[in-house]
Amino acid sequence: LAQRLSELRSLPAETSDGVRIRLSANIEFPHEAASCLERGADGIGLYRTEFLYLSSAEEPSEEDHYEAYSQVIREMDGRPVVIRTLDLGADKMGRHPQVDRENNPFLGLRSIRLSLRHLDLFRPQLRAILRAAVHGDVRVMFPLITTLAELRQAKMLLSTVAEDLAVSGVPFRSDIPIGMMVEVPAAVLMLDRFVREVDFLSIGTNDLAQYTLAVDRSNEYVAELYQSTDPSVLSLIRRSVEIANANDTPLAVCGEMSSNPARALLLLGLGIRNLSVPPSSLPRVKKAIRSVSIEECQAIAERVMTFEAARDVDLYLIGRLRELV
Ligand code: PEP
Ligand code: MG
Repeated sequence: LAQRLSELRSLPAETSDGVRIRLSANIEFPHEAASCLERGADGIGLYRTEFLYLSSAEEPSEEDHYEAYSQVIREMDGRPVVIRTLDLGADKMGRHPQVDRENNPFLGLRSIRLSLRHLDLFRPQLRAILRAAVHGDVRVMFPLITTLAELRQAKMLLSTVAEDLAVSGVPFRSDIPIGMMVEVPAAVLMLDRFVREVDFLSIGTNDLAQYTLAVDRSNEYVAELYQSTDPSVLSLIRRSVEIANANDTPLAVCGEMSSNPARALLLLGLGIRNLSVPPSSLPRVKKAIRSVSIEECQAIAERVMTFEAARDVDLYLIGRLRELV
């Protein structure tokens, strides 16, 4: 089986009826780029950048950011690299002194909220991204966007940083695509406004499930309530696809949901054509994609949308996966 999975590397992530799916990888560390290429990833769909903070007690410098991004961008050799800006706080606390203890950290000063509050953290990262962008196809993505004001502030800051770089004569690229994570129900509910102000979207099913179901994704006491296949979450995904398609805005799914082959087929059926998964999941997700037609996936989605509980969805998906893949 391992051999057959390795043969998959050079084959496209294409359904049996010839629909090409973009299958990218999620990484945290620069050294992971090699394993993405080994497994034939179409690009990096989610570069989590917190490791710079979590792996060292010292504040990373702009150069540290720049080096970490440039290495991955060069290695990916022209393939798209989506760099997500700092997603610190809540489950990604580390030892950073600017992350205080809070009673409800997942509802607190985390992610883009923290970055916008601490521009001394955010600015060097944005500068480094724009500088590293000269080495390849770089896109920047903001996490946990909840309001239009946050998105606009982040974009404004990015353009201010670009002006600073231009004034100081440092090489950089300012015209990189700007995207946002769709991982808060408010963003889905307002998505028809957001699509006008971004170049691409990526659904983070981990947080979207957490905030939709009001379940702390790291709390063992309520683990059984945390289900990315809950019909409520699926209906938010379907709604996102409709709005993104109506506006011709590319939409990916980069949460853990897409790394489960059965759930990946459901996502294709819901209209998703762009998945990003951990490098280790690339072969099995590609294998599943290559085993099915879009029509089969659509039939799966249609049936799944009649269910009322995640358990029923999962049982059905496991059965279909066995029959099809
Ligand atoms: C998500 O929330 O689904 C996601 C991809 O981001 P993270 O898991 O890093 O919060
Ligand atoms: Mg998230």
